[in-house]
Amino acid sequence: TPDSSPDTQPVAASAALMERALAVTPGGVNSPVRAFRAVGGTPRFIASAAGPWLRDVDGNRYVDLVGSWGPMILGHTHPDVLAAVQGAAAHGFSFGTPSANEVALAEEIVARVEPVEQVRLVSSGTEATMSAVRLARGFTGRSAVVKFAGCYHGHVDALLAHAGSGIATFGLPDSAGVPASAAAETIVLPYNDVEALEAAFAEHGERIACLITEASPGNMGVVPPAPGFTDALRRVTREHGALLISDEVMTGFRCSASGWYGLEGPYEGGAPDLFTFGKVMGGGFPAAAFGGRADILAHLAPLGPVYQAGTLSGNPVATAAGLATLRGCTPEVYERLERTARTIADAASAALTEHDVPHTVQWAGSMFSIFFQPGPPKPVRDYDDAREQDLPAFAAFFHAMLAAGVHLPPSAFESWFVSAAHDEEAIEAVLAALPGAARAAS
Ligand code: PLP
Repeated sequence: TPDSSPDTQPVAASAALMERALAVTPGGVNSPVRAFRAVGGTPRFIASAAGPWLRDVDGNRYVDLVGSWGPMILGHTHPDVLAAVQGAAAHGFSFGTPSANEVALAEEIVARVEPVEQVRLVSSGTEATMSAVRLARGFTGRSAVVKFAGCYHGHVDALLAHAGSGIATFGLPDSAGVPASAAAETIVLPYNDVEALEAAFAEHGERIACLITEASPGNMGVVPPAPGFTDALRRVTREHGALLISDEVMTGFRCSASGWYGLEGPYEGGAPDLFTFGKVMGGGFPAAAFGGRADILAHLAPLGPVYQAGTLSGNPVATAAGLATLRGCTPEVYERLERTARTIADAASAALTEHDVPHTVQWAGSMFSIFFQPGPPKPVRDYDDAREQDLPAFAAFFHAMLAAGVHLPPSAFESWFVSAAHDEEAIEAVLAALPGAARAAS
């Protein structure tokens, strides 16, 4: 964290809110990354958002390249989504009974992602992955779970684990409050490493219920699977009778109309057994899902013995927002996202090169990250590679962008998210900010 305040804009109103927040909320925030701990300075309290723009409580305006961490694919307060939300809310906020929107949203998902035959709706990505893992354990009658270092699947106890010593060993808790017993059933492997994968399954295969992976990881920065890696996940899990869970909470309906699967699938040896979704499918409201093969989903209550439920699951307002968002995600939207992302990433890379700031750009559809890696550019293949970054250089870059009116994710381990609402004015504002930020990072 930088010593002196990096804030160069008026931030009095944000700072005053932060002071109040710190008194009543741990760290002043309801999700840790919002606290700006990695970059220092005052988190901006946002008062309103429209299209690609955020406005904070001090009146500063920013081009938003966070997009609420993924959901805002059409931009903020899109008129169609707003109308859908207002229309749904006028008819009631929550019924605790089945309602039409949840059927329509499930149909929309099933129509888009070919291997997904059925889904169960939940309210967060964390709930989706937690429930998918429980279902996999219930279906297979096994308890061990394989995950990859650097992949984030929400704050599920069993998935907050880091690697023990040695490759194919069981995990250690990654957070206080996660019992050793919860992490002891989790095997944590390095990403993009087929040898480690095969060794783990050779040793523990009979105990492994499932392997969960981000379809294309975005939570250590964007680190796509090397060619053939996902095929290997499919092959090895199948050989050992374990389920493959593709976590598309971030990539789903973002990388393409059918998510990362639409870009990389179908895989040699078949599709993943289960998928998880969130973010875009809620359009900024709490809606998420897990789904996949109908014979596996049949193990869920009320049909089968695996229990799962939710007071707000399939909420009529959230599902209206998700449905309007997915329906707005036309082929032209995906083309536009890619074009906008390329324009911004190319300009950022050129500015950094101009100022001799070493970096590597990596892609998954329109998701991209700029890794501030010292030395010559080289592929970032796993979490160890991703951690090699010059974090003070990123913090300087981040704050120079913020001062120039561009809100990037306040961490070097994230994807940048563009929206279909990023128009010429917003893109120009980003391009104008980049040279100064690259200078600040040098
Ligand atoms: N899975 C992935 C791949 C994610 O990126 C996230 C959140 O960033 C989650 C799961 C958890 O989702 P949520 O924050 O909605 O609980």
